[in-house]
Amino acid sequence: MQPDAELRAALQRLPKVDEVLERPLVRTLLQRTPRWAVVEAVRAEIERLRGELRADPHSAVELDEQRLATVIESLLQPSLDRVLNATGVVLHTGLGRAPLCQQAIARIAETAAAYCNLELDVDERRRGSRHQHVTHLLLRLTGAEAALVVNNGAGAVLLALAAHAAGREVIVSRGELVEIGGGFRVPDVMRTSGAVLCEVGTTNRTHVADYESAISDKTAALFKVHRSNFAQIGFTADVEVKKLVELGRARSLQTIVDLGSGLLTEDLGLEGVTEPTVQQVVEAGADLITFSGDKLLGGPQAGILVGSKQAMAACERHPLLRALRPDKLTIAALEATLELYRDGNFAEIPTLRMLRTNEKELHARAVALHALCTAARSDVQFSIERVRSAVGGGALPLCEPWSWAVGACKKTAGPELLDARLRAADPPVVGRIADDKLLLDVRTLTDEELPQVAQAFREG
Ligand SMILES: *Cc1c(COP(=O)(O)O)cnc(C)c1O
Repeated sequence: MQPDAELRAALQRLPKVDEVLERPLVRTLLQRTPRWAVVEAVRAEIERLRGELRADPHSAVELDEQRLATVIESLLQPSLDRVLNATGVVLHTGLGRAPLCQQAIARIAETAAAYCNLELDVDERRRGSRHQHVTHLLLRLTGAEAALVVNNGAGAVLLALAAHAAGREVIVSRGELVEIGGGFRVPDVMRTSGAVLCEVGTTNRTHVADYESAISDKTAALFKVHRSNFAQIGFTADVEVKKLVELGRARSLQTIVDLGSGLLTEDLGLEGVTEPTVQQVVEAGADLITFSGDKLLGGPQAGILVGSKQAMAACERHPLLRALRPDKLTIAALEATLELYRDGNFAEIPTLRMLRTNEKELHARAVALHALCTAARSDVQFSIERVRSAVGGGALPLCEPWSWAVGACKKTAGPELLDARLRAADPPVVGRIADDKLLLDVRTLTDEELPQVAQAFREG
């Protein structure tokens, strides 16, 4: 036979979708699986066989029914899924930043499942505001006069500048024009608000006089960005909030501070913490302060604005607030998290708990993980390693608390292979590679997750 004719004949022997759907094993699959997924899996398998026939017309045309279940499983796997964080980076933006406290999770579930008083003052029978639910807590915790919650930190910056500086100038130090991550830059967010950036000073040094000499009748505000994700050392100078506020007041200008992380307690139990708390910046007199809900605060993704009543009034009136407003689940989670701060229950907040875990506890956890892994896998060499964790989330770049990890390496293959296998597990385990080892930092793992990590080694 001619090769073409041979191929055509082979292709004709391929099973048809309808015929496969009638087979007993596939019919049982259909009983417990949505029909679309079974049909798609069957089509994909037939397509795969067709590809094999094109490469070799003599290959088998029999459909492997066992494989269908695997294909169906991957089709039904949700896209947003659980991951075990063994990187030691507590606020890992790629892994969803702050895990929520139990109280916030419960509050989300209650709020999501039924109606709630989101924008209704039930007693007074009139329209209420979704913002009022967390305002009283934010005022109590930060000492500010007014507060507002939006979707995220960048949104808070956008709203603050749109409300106060659209079409006018904002003076900002060249040493503070940071890139937040994912290619997003604070100066771009600022410009999007309609404000015109007036950059002053140099990369390493900016003085009050630099701000002062840039003030003109076009100036709307003085702006300070907290250098969250990098630090400057050496011959440096910047202007503290208090000095900027003095200048702003003397010249009738607002002082706006993008704090980034939103630390609410000084009591982090870490060395190398240079982060100011929100309370300290309020006290220094800033008119508006913006920060994230899911960085050091340890709550849901949100942007929080606190400041003077007058400065907030302009934000409350601005149409962008409607576009940036938080949903009820965010408010529910934020309220529950802030209540823990109010009551001093810091240990209940996972972010703070992970940052504050001491080395002794971490070492014990690493020993436990080491034992589980060793029992799970004999061809991998496991060790216990002293490592440094990171805070992440663009916060505290100089703070790298000591931690403990389990190191894994294989004589026959590089750590990349182990890493790839663990990432392919269910749930995936994400560690990091250093010194030819795969390192699993236990700071960001819970005790309950340790057996799952060992299981991932067993399967991989
Ligand atoms: C993280 C950060 C932001 C953005 O906050 P998101 O909540 O990620 O939108 C803005 N400014 C600074 C200085 C930050 O560190």
